[in-house]
Amino acid sequence: MKVLVINCGSSSLKYQLIDSDTEDVLAKGLCERIGIDGALTHEPAGKDKIKTAPAMPDHKTAIGIVLEQLTDKENGVIASLDEISAVGHRVVHGGEKFTKSCIITEDVLKEIEACNVFAPLHNPAALIGIEACQELMQDKPMVAVFDTAFHQTMPEKAFLYGIPRKYYDEDGIRRYGFHGTSHQFVSNEAAKMLGKDIKDLNIIVCHLGNGASVTAVKGGESVDTSMGLTPLEGLIMGTRSGDLDPAILEFIANKENKTVSEVVNILNKESGVLGLSGGVSSDFRDVKAAKAEGNKAAKAALDAYAYRVAKYIGAYTVAMNGVDAIAFTAGLGENDDATRAAIGEYLECIGAKIDAVKNDVHGKAAVISTDDSRVKVLCIPTNEEVMIARDTVALVK
Ligand code: ADP
Repeated sequence: MKVLVINCGSSSLKYQLIDSDTEDVLAKGLCERIGIDGALTHEPAGKDKIKTAPAMPDHKTAIGIVLEQLTDKENGVIASLDEISAVGHRVVHGGEKFTKSCIITEDVLKEIEACNVFAPLHNPAALIGIEACQELMQDKPMVAVFDTAFHQTMPEKAFLYGIPRKYYDEDGIRRYGFHGTSHQFVSNEAAKMLGKDIKDLNIIVCHLGNGASVTAVKGGESVDTSMGLTPLEGLIMGTRSGDLDPAILEFIANKENKTVSEVVNILNKESGVLGLSGGVSSDFRDVKAAKAEGNKAAKAALDAYAYRVAKYIGAYTVAMNGVDAIAFTAGLGENDDATRAAIGEYLECIGAKIDAVKNDVHGKAAVISTDDSRVKVLCIPTNEEVMIARDTVALVK
């Protein structure tokens, strides 16, 4: 069965056409600058990348162009759209309503819309993408896969904030967590790599990309995660602050004469390693290069980053009463051996020792702990698209 996976952002759209039997990617690509001018990168499997700049005034046009590319005589990978059996859509926020993926109906669309308040940049974009696909592929079943769903198993003690109860009861203010598809995929892969049943394992997954989060996975279920009501909480990220004293908002607002929304924008877009390094970059490769040239702020940013990840690993080891495996994933987790090693320096006390030689691995699955390490440390490439395709097939079959 061929499944089209769509991940819609406010001005971008990523897609993959996946053969669900083999889990091979038949084609993938990225539409950027939607609503501005338009840029397309299309990669049919086994052929060269094609970069073009077709006008993309809106998401519907962008999806139309993607479908043309997939069926194109030269660059296409299917003869007609009939070959696509279903479409899987990534949706960031599913609130408490969605504990798993589901077939998209009118009611589901309304429920997703109701979650827009918690993800004002992400959810509306996903809805636009879904509606555009429904118009262009009217006969295809569509499935929504939520970033928050995997974390709905968290107990109340992990998801409640210490604020007046009415904000949870009346407004749904609580920890939701994100990157759920990735945490679920990687914890499953970790169990497979260790040859154990996931039900018997306590796994800590560190998804370290531009956005980053850590999840405690006990017996295959998320029991705690570092992101919160929104993806701003938790780790120090590329541009996001992660945890801080909420009183800082008031201080910055007063000092800079800014509104709360403007300060939250600073915490989302101008903070993290970008802000801490004094504006060097949100990309860790640049920050590492600056550190190598002696930039003290860049070094401090990287030190604070690794320390925060290690603190969460410590906390989740206690939360699960022990840990069997720690898995690193996403751009930085999969590729940056130096950051993994820096985090590893804090972990010997919980029985996790990273092997310097085995840690020299980039973008592929490997055990990177020493043979005598009680806790296994793993590097595992994430694959959110395959997870979306799997859920889509399971629901439409
Ligand atoms: P996104 O959250 O956008 O999906 P990714 O998971 O692709 O992000 O991660 C992107 C980030 O990974 C980049 O910003 C970069 O900081 C980091 N990264 C990728 N490769 C490396 C590398 N070799 N060394 C250090 N950092 C890397």
